[in-house]
Amino acid sequence: RQMTELIETIVCHRDPERYALLHELVSRYLRGERRILEDAADPLVHRLGLLAHAIRRDVHKMHAFVRFRRVETGRGESYVAWFEPDNFILRVAAPFFVARFPSQLWSIVTPDGSLHWDGVHLLEGPGGRREDVPAADAFEDGWRRYYESTFNPARLNPVMMRREMPTRYWSNLPEAAAIAGLIRTAPSRVSGMIEREAAMAEKRNPEKAVAAMAAQEPKTLGELNAIIAGAEPMVSGGTRAVLGEGPVGASLAFVGEQPGDQEDIEGRPFVGPAGRLLDRALNEAGIDRRAAYLTNAVKHFKFEPRGKRRIHQKPTAGEVRRYRWWLMKEIELVHPGIVVALGGTAALALSGKAISVTASRGPTVFEGRSGFVTVHPSYLLRLPDEVAKREAYASFVADLRRAAALARAA
Ligand code: URA
Repeated sequence: RQMTELIETIVCHRDPERYALLHELVSRYLRGERRILEDAADPLVHRLGLLAHAIRRDVHKMHAFVRFRRVETGRGESYVAWFEPDNFILRVAAPFFVARFPSQLWSIVTPDGSLHWDGVHLLEGPGGRREDVPAADAFEDGWRRYYESTFNPARLNPVMMRREMPTRYWSNLPEAAAIAGLIRTAPSRVSGMIEREAAMAEKRNPEKAVAAMAAQEPKTLGELNAIIAGAEPMVSGGTRAVLGEGPVGASLAFVGEQPGDQEDIEGRPFVGPAGRLLDRALNEAGIDRRAAYLTNAVKHFKFEPRGKRRIHQKPTAGEVRRYRWWLMKEIELVHPGIVVALGGTAALALSGKAISVTASRGPTVFEGRSGFVTVHPSYLLRLPDEVAKREAYASFVADLRRAAALARAA
């Protein structure tokens, strides 16, 4: 397996000698050198190791430095990126983008070939030219500002920075325009950080922070969302706030637990696997997602980094309570006909006390407001047994239908 993996990696290299080198490797293996790859001092193995390393680095850089630009097509919006990898890595790099952006239409164009994702299939096409792809879009400034706001001047190391982000990729990176300025202003920003550190002590006390938000008395959902978006996460790992989505005055509001990995990336609630299941169930229950309001009890993705993965962590009851002021204000401002708690965390947040979903499933009242308790779609995804899964899904759809009927009556 090690041998085939190495061969698959090295054929991606642009080195014209790659096939000759691989031929020599396979010949020696077949002639009895079965442990050849373990001999790191062998000149052939050493050279192949360098080629394989270059491919892995190239793939890593492509994953990090592809920047999509939005374009309008006849089929709606789609995202296109131009990238110039050193080697023929398009096919090897592709699964990362499919997993990362499954629900958008996108293309990546390189001089040697192109990839096109239509939401279901990944197609390969011919290579293109830089001019085939827009060099900027309306979000260019947003990208640069995002980069500026996440850039930590206290950790600036320009040598390391150029090694990790080689300048030859810069022409394609909207954030590159900000780098010179960030380096120049880093020392003064560091002093500012030290001064602000003292002021942060208060912010770290979540109860005080919530009281300060309450004192701002947001009158509209927009004002509340601005407060939420600008506040520090109150769980570990949270990067950005994922705000609720849907019309004010929706007859149905659905409250989940917290955004997941995909929601955190896209900045929208229920767009990952649980969201797709919810969409299917809403559809079957005759509920138009766009007419409903969707939000979460906790507004940030709580996770623990494990290697490159971000592992979802369930919020504690204390954390749910800290986010509760936002949620209750949000529900008050959206003023739905009925609010549906998807799972125990949402039920805890809406009622203020721990509730068993099994015992309280069905219509209820949350602090004087018509409510409904049902399971969370992730619970259905986790059921190991197919029959149980089908039955639980049917009950979930029946719950959604019942909640919709109650909302209509309300
Ligand atoms: N699970 C939730 O509770 N909310 C989301 O937005 C996604 C998954």
